Amino acid sequence: MNNDDLKIKVNELRNEGYGYKKIATKLSITVSAARYMCIKTTDEDLLVNNCKNCGLKIKSVKGKKKKRFCSDVCRYQWWNHKNREEKHHGTH
Ligand SMILES: [Zn+2]
Repeated sequence: MNNDDLKIKVNELRNEGYGYKKIATKLSITVSAARYMCIKTTDEDLLVNNCKNCGLKIKSVKGKKKKRFCSDVCRYQWWNHKNREEKHHGTH
């Protein structure tokens, strides 16, 4: 799990009403790390958009590359589908 994922997780748990101590235990990080991540990431830093394949809500971190898919599986499926369509409507 990288730092951005951790930040998102911390903030998700915060939104669910978890305290720092619980979050720290849940994510196997220290309480101060949990608090630090929370201060560092506000809701404004999280961009919410939907997976292009399944429509699932995904959060991207501001300043980072925007995620378009919720998972690699969805990315794969979407491109697969796109390729098939292009072949179908392809020029001769
Ligand atoms: Zn998806």
